[in-house]
Amino acid sequence: MLILNCPYCGVDAEETELTAGGEAHIKRHGPGSSDDEFHDYLFMRENPKGVHFERWRHSNGCGKWFHAARCTATLEVFGTYSAQTTEPPKEIREAISAKRPGWKWREFE
Ligand SMILES: [Zn+2]
Repeated sequence: MLILNCPYCGVDAEETELTAGGEAHIKRHGPGSSDDEFHDYLFMRENPKGVHFERWRHSNGCGKWFHAARCTATLEVFGTYSAQTTEPPKEIREAISAKRPGWKWREFE
């Protein structure tokens, strides 16, 4: 079972206490963007076998949204952090790089 630590209330929440919210760090394209950019914003999602960044809501707890970095193949959790960020915090990226040498994703290296 997937267990994620809520960064707001500190609870180690089981999967049944959480609601999945899809991929994290999706760049929003608004007015003035091209059709291709808006298409990608609406429909294009990562689906990796490995490290992934996701949005989760502590729906049966404090109710707040947060981000989690985890491996989709092993369910290993690298960390959770505030949803009020545009990219993963440095300590999360370092934790991933320590366990997955050579890992990189998008502009995060
Ligand atoms: Zn919480």
